[in-house]
Amino acid sequence: MLSAAITESKIGEIKNLISESNKIVLICHVSPDGDAIGSSLALAMLLRKLGKITDIVTPDQPPKSLSFLPGVKDIVSYSCSPQVACKLFSEADLVICLDFNAISRIDDAFKAFSLCNSPKILIDHHLNPENFAQVIISEPSYSSTCLLLYRVIKLLEYTSYIDENIATCIYTGMVTDTGNFSYNSLSPEIYLTIAELLQKGLQKDDVYKCIYNSNTESKLRLNGYAISNKMYIYHDHAAGFIALTESELNKYNYTKGDTEGLVNIPLSIPGIVYSAFLRESVDANGVHFIKVSMRSSGEFPVNTICERYFNGGGHKNAAGGEFYGSINDALNILQSLFDENDKLIKQLKTE
Ligand code: 5GP
Ligand code: MN
Repeated sequence: MLSAAITESKIGEIKNLISESNKIVLICHVSPDGDAIGSSLALAMLLRKLGKITDIVTPDQPPKSLSFLPGVKDIVSYSCSPQVACKLFSEADLVICLDFNAISRIDDAFKAFSLCNSPKILIDHHLNPENFAQVIISEPSYSSTCLLLYRVIKLLEYTSYIDENIATCIYTGMVTDTGNFSYNSLSPEIYLTIAELLQKGLQKDDVYKCIYNSNTESKLRLNGYAISNKMYIYHDHAAGFIALTESELNKYNYTKGDTEGLVNIPLSIPGIVYSAFLRESVDANGVHFIKVSMRSSGEFPVNTICERYFNGGGHKNAAGGEFYGSINDALNILQSLFDENDKLIKQLKTE
């Protein structure tokens, strides 16, 4: 049976839009992760097999940790090549948006995106999608856009085009959005899909090594410092926070991705229900701000905290935002919520 979001008529519309298009551009969110890049690369490879001229535009560059993915070098990042990105959008017959629900998530790449008057399709798993596409497949119950994309590919009857490279990209998003199947990972569809991807030649153990065994010495030392010196655990409030200033990051030669995963560390302590990672950063105008990342377990929602206080959003158990102020201001906000959050945690325990 089709789920409410993936109706037969939408699948038919997608099939028609693809068949009527010659040039297709795919776009995903800023600071793209394994799910954003994985879904974009997988779909691009498949569309090329259908004979479509397909390009991927990302708002900024993919992280180095994903450079193992096939085709990642061909991605056009708006931040590096704005003119190329503008040309691609202005000539596109169809745009497919992957892994984001709000147009603000494509950041400055909107300047290129807005040059395109052609139809747009959105395939995403974040809550409450904005209405910026003609066809919207939004399924928040899916743990990753990659898993959702696989479902869409099946319904489009394009699975015969999936090869080892496409399987690798789909699997990468499934792994990275579930912490290697340690959260949001109860759906049997995940494991049925993995079985089918293995039959397409997926080397799943190699993908694990590429994703997780790719540390640098400076990254490990930064993580060690953060956990040892900059982690604040509040057992009485079931909360744990880690905060790093710009100068601390510089001292350890921080590069993008070096702090990925730190936000999960406090949650590994029994009794801790939610965590925050705060990283001082500088925006395009040279203004300092705090990038906020939050995680939780169970029913405790961190997306509402990020929406209300950090100009962001996300999922119940994984959310983020941006805060213009100091690290201490952000920590103070989190501490000021202790009473309210204590009550909620208590209430959730009794439900
Ligand atoms: P992460 O903590 O891995 O950067 O982000 C986790 C999730 O939080 C993302 O998948 C996204 O849904 C959401 N998120 C992160 N940063 C932002 C942000 O600045 N704005 C919004 N709206 N959501 C964000
Ligand atoms: Mn995702």
